Amino acid sequence: MNRLLKENGRVLAFGAHPDDLEVGAGGLLARLAAEGAEVTMAVVSIPNNTDVRRAEANAGADVIGADLYILFDEKPLRVEDIPMHELVRKFDHMVGDVRPDLVITHSAHDLHWDHGLVNRATVSALRRTPCDLLAFLSSPEMNAQARAIGQCFADISTTMETKISAISAHASQVPKLDLESSRDLARAMGRISGCQYAEAYEALRVRV
Ligand SMILES: [Zn+2]
Repeated sequence: MNRLLKENGRVLAFGAHPDDLEVGAGGLLARLAAEGAEVTMAVVSIPNNTDVRRAEANAGADVIGADLYILFDEKPLRVEDIPMHELVRKFDHMVGDVRPDLVITHSAHDLHWDHGLVNRATVSALRRTPCDLLAFLSSPEMNAQARAIGQCFADISTTMETKISAISAHASQVPKLDLESSRDLARAMGRISGCQYAEAYEALRVRV
């Protein structure tokens, strides 16, 4: 995957809701940004508390060093409220604008229905785009349960604290986000892969 980390590489990450990307992929996104990649975070919808959660999403993206787009910003929505063709059309535009070398999205194995829909739309939007594709599970609990995850590990030892700060930016959600779980999981994934902290990904498409 080193080729992806070169300066000026473009990374596009799709998350269903504010905080999903920070929890699932915040360490790798922060690391790629620190290494010179142009990182774009695309959040599909804000289910509730729109103004507060939009501000938190901006703060989280700032900590990571990413640009943030909220794709359906007009009113509180769940992803399942959006017809799949509209979702794919928005994703198509993001892919066309960013022209990513690497896309990161939710896993199809995620138990949250909205998250699975984002996986489906991402795969559809990449039908004609040659890029790498990694998938993450958005919560430590699901990560621990899913057997499909763990084919690929990102060393996030240098950005673990950035990840925790980015998650902390979602102050309205932090009570249920449990920062220590995120750290525990990263430590466990690091032990498996031979570094201090790691995030686990499914490698859906990787060009070597
Ligand atoms: Zn979510």
